[in-house]
Amino acid sequence: MTYALVLNSGSSSIKFQVIDPHADAEADPKASGLVEQIGEPQGQITLKTGGEKFTLNTEIPDHSAGLSLAFELMEEHQVGPKDLDISAVGHRVVHGGMLFSHPEVITDEIIDMIRDLIPLAPLHNPANLDGIEVARRILPDVPHVAVFDTGFFHSMPPAAALYAINAEVALNNGVRRYGFHGTSHEYVSQQVPALLGLPAQAVNQITLHLGNGASCAAIRGGEAVDTSMGMTPLSGLVMGTRSGDIDPGIVFHLARNAGMSIDELDTLLNKQSGVKGLSGVNDFRELRKMIEAENQDAWLAYNVYIHQLRRYIGSYMIALGRVNAITFTAGVGENDRYVRADALAGLEPYGIKIDPERNAAPNTGAREISTDDSAVKVFVVPTNEELAIAQYAVELANRG
Ligand code: AMP
Repeated sequence: MTYALVLNSGSSSIKFQVIDPHADAEADPKASGLVEQIGEPQGQITLKTGGEKFTLNTEIPDHSAGLSLAFELMEEHQVGPKDLDISAVGHRVVHGGMLFSHPEVITDEIIDMIRDLIPLAPLHNPANLDGIEVARRILPDVPHVAVFDTGFFHSMPPAAALYAINAEVALNNGVRRYGFHGTSHEYVSQQVPALLGLPAQAVNQITLHLGNGASCAAIRGGEAVDTSMGMTPLSGLVMGTRSGDIDPGIVFHLARNAGMSIDELDTLLNKQSGVKGLSGVNDFRELRKMIEAENQDAWLAYNVYIHQLRRYIGSYMIALGRVNAITFTAGVGENDRYVRADALAGLEPYGIKIDPERNAAPNTGAREISTDDSAVKVFVVPTNEELAIAQYAVELANRG
């Protein structure tokens, strides 16, 4: 049996999974874990394998030490690179800019190109590169593959991708809509034609990735034609802690009148806004409890979230003209039946009818939640970005 190692490196953390790329989408990975608090006095590594969880607390000075320690912990439990046949390493890379539309086998040249994109993702791409460099050093004989979060949206038409700001300024600074969560939107949308019994080319669909981060996409015949995230993952839907779309004039207003710095505004809009900014919590399970306890802030936050979601669904229905399917995915989309019901409530005149019983059924894989006579089918399809990255990595590695 061969496996892929999937790495998602952040500035102070590394998420890892060891996955059989041919496994069922619902199967647990062979191993998964998290290296946290890299660079802080006390770091932590957790490993889950065979239904058990193991933890190691120690100082982790940098990514190199973090990954080495993670491999040691994996080897202690016989799931490390020395115990298993790891045939490829897949790396999640946040920003592929205009340079990458598809996953790529990593070479020195590809690393330079990812480095060139740092101005577009100053926090994410350097951390992704750290992970790539360390993993290539530790596993030099295995192909490494970069999978870009923006890749799926590379083909968006200019009308959807361009912002109406000065063309020269935009061009010189890479200002355009790139979109994110591409691996998830692609993975989920690829399953929909089979659920509909239609060829992929014939399917127009909307995918709603509603997790702590949230985005939606309009997809025609397998090609993305619009998405809600933009140059950065801050725009579009209301999210757990991110504002989503706001009037850009608010930024000037707060800088001029509240004396907020660029960094303070960045923190405000990315970490202190969204559902959390309005209600104090970002987890929809807590939000639901607060709504049930008649907390007005929670109710308002929920309504703002739903209102914005419906705005996007409506605009993508118009953009696509004909819609075969709307699909919910990610933590909120897969689990929160209230969000699903409210996002599509009252849309019977548009051919969208949710079946309340199907919608309330327990979370069991890919399933239809619309009525048999709903013209637009509504699905819940669990996302699995790591599995998708593992599959790309092995496919490209086998291609040589
Ligand atoms: P993700 O970013 O896809 O991992 O989604 C994480 C979010 O999903 C959490 O912050 C919760 O808001 C939400 N979530 C997870 N499980 C549930 C659940 N059972 N019911 C409602 N929301 C959930």
